[in-house]
Amino acid sequence: MTFPDDLNHLIRNDEPLGPLVWLGIGGPAHYFAEPVEEAEIERLVAAAAAANLPVRILGDGSNVLVRESGVDGLVISLSAAATSGMSIDGTRMTAGAGAKLSHAVIKAVGAGLGGLEHLVGIPGSVGGAVVGNASSDGRDIGSVVHSVTVLEKDGSRRTLSQDEIGFSHRKSSMSGLIVLSVTFELESRDVESLTKRMQKLWIGRNASRPSEERRITMPFIDPDGMPTKDLIQSVGLAGLREGDVSLDSNQPHYIVAHSGATSDQCLRLIERVREQVLLQTGIDLQLNLQIW
Ligand SMILES: Cc1cc2nc3c(=O)[nH]c(=O)nc-3n(C[C@H](O)[C@H](O)[C@H](O)COP(=O)(O)OP(=O)(O)OC[C@H]3O[C@@H](n4cnc5c(N)ncnc54)[C@H](O)[C@@H]3O)c2cc1C
Repeated sequence: MTFPDDLNHLIRNDEPLGPLVWLGIGGPAHYFAEPVEEAEIERLVAAAAAANLPVRILGDGSNVLVRESGVDGLVISLSAAATSGMSIDGTRMTAGAGAKLSHAVIKAVGAGLGGLEHLVGIPGSVGGAVVGNASSDGRDIGSVVHSVTVLEKDGSRRTLSQDEIGFSHRKSSMSGLIVLSVTFELESRDVESLTKRMQKLWIGRNASRPSEERRITMPFIDPDGMPTKDLIQSVGLAGLREGDVSLDSNQPHYIVAHSGATSDQCLRLIERVREQVLLQTGIDLQLNLQIW
């Protein structure tokens, strides 16, 4: 496809996606763009729609596994500053979809606004967190979302209220839409106690992670009643290896991609875990990880 002349400077062909995702593996995007202005995102999406080219949005890449064959369409990265702004008005905080979730948490806590602090330490962007309804400590991010501004597939904008979005466990009804910004409705609280709570949660989260800082993913959604970690441990799969990809031995709900890892190995490991867990417990583990 050819993009309009005034967008061509944004497009990179066959851009490797491995370096842009946490697992560090996977093939290229046929077309890749990192727009620096919101208006460019709208025009890119409209141009792709007119040419019937599929579009995928990349946040921080902490929940994506890219296949070896890569992505046959346009990948738009929201890492530029234009999509990362944050502002506070009373108890409402608005954050661009590309803002890091950790920055949004810190900003809210620093302003004495409670409701996001339990999400401290979850990697990713605000957009990725809201689309996937990220959760921790039994509370999900959707519960404090006031509204979300999205782009439709044709590049037109719409603002959705919390009710219209339909959040459920680790899901929202926004797949296919592009999140541009999110407004949270938070609660006025004491900064010092919020900070203490956040720090405590942060220490707990760090202690329950594999030692590798990157090249890890948490692929499964906890089924009702039992954390995936305990489930995998109970069926004796901790440390299970497939080529250069393994389940962590102490925190087996994490997959670690070692040097030489491939996406195919990762997919095979996920299938082996799902098969064994189903066979031994009757539980069909669902994927949180998005496979591109
Ligand atoms: C070490 C580790 C710990 C984790 N712990 C938790 C946890 O405790 N709780 C939890 O819920 N998750 C957890 N996750 C999963 C992950 O961090 C979350 O799913 C996170 O919210 C993904 O955000 P992201 O920006 O990295 O999304 P990406 O990986 O970039 O994208 C994920 C999906 O969201 C879509 N997407 C991203 N941004 C947008 C947008 N603006 N508009 C439309 N679609 C978009 C992408 O197209 C893709 O389908 C963990 C992951 C890791 C690696």
